Amino acid sequence: MNPLHPNKTCELHVHPGGCLTAQDLLDLGRNIYQDVDWTLFTDAYEQAYNTRPDPITLYQNALADPDLGFETFKSHFIYTQKDGGDFGRFQAKFNFIICLLRHPSPHQDMINTSFQMTVDQHQKEGVNFVEYRCGGGQQTHDQFIAMHHKYATTLKSATQNNFTGRYIISLCRSSAEQDYEWVQELMDTYPDLIPTLIGIDFSHFEEGYPPKDKRAFFERVHQDNQKNPERALDIVYHVGESYFDKSLESAIRWCHEIAEMGIKRLGHATALGLPPEVAVARRPNAHVQELVSEHLDQIAYDLAHATELT
Ligand SMILES: [Zn+2]
Repeated sequence: MNPLHPNKTCELHVHPGGCLTAQDLLDLGRNIYQDVDWTLFTDAYEQAYNTRPDPITLYQNALADPDLGFETFKSHFIYTQKDGGDFGRFQAKFNFIICLLRHPSPHQDMINTSFQMTVDQHQKEGVNFVEYRCGGGQQTHDQFIAMHHKYATTLKSATQNNFTGRYIISLCRSSAEQDYEWVQELMDTYPDLIPTLIGIDFSHFEEGYPPKDKRAFFERVHQDNQKNPERALDIVYHVGESYFDKSLESAIRWCHEIAEMGIKRLGHATALGLPPEVAVARRPNAHVQELVSEHLDQIAYDLAHATELT
């Protein structure tokens, strides 16, 4: 067997929205783009690129002109090297599809359809083990339960014939405790989904959410896992991905701090791999300031690790 076979057939970090192509975005929105609230996309795009896009015109031109019109449409969605490793720009472009997927009922079926499309595509590609991470942002209790029940059920049904789909719920950084209660309720109510539901994730902007504030919460999760190993939840955590508001040292420290809290996998952690001269060139005045609390934490860290750091 090709030694790379397991690497090619196993995906451990998949965001379903990120699996959709520009063509999917066009197809899913072609009948409703005039009704969608695009504010989340247009605001973030303007902030990141200093120009405000007009999604309705983008759709009209892409539908009318499959060459130039579609290329322009695509350039507002696909994040490339030209975007300069800037999380704000990534999120702005990702918001294009988020707005579409969050368009309210009766189009809710579209979200389910797009998720099924993603799972089908992975199966077609010959990937046989996938961990999907999904979050719905600020949701009500009923929205949270309904969405994650639907997604986990889709994966449970898809898990057969040499394909295994597993589900990780992304919790809001600002309401992790509440979201965690709802995850527990989901497992209480639908015990058949427990084998599918294997973990919790944290994603989106990191600024304002230092790992140290999650220490007590993660202790609780680890204790719950010990008490109920049959429904244990791994913790995966996006960190070192969005960090313009602090020094590079602090961004790296955040990755180290969270890794020591019993996290199974770190998400992205570009802070650990980006050459400092590249990191600081991404934005004017990047990484030159940080909160006093961060600087104090960094000094404490440097002292605690003085031996290893010299
Ligand atoms: Zn990710």
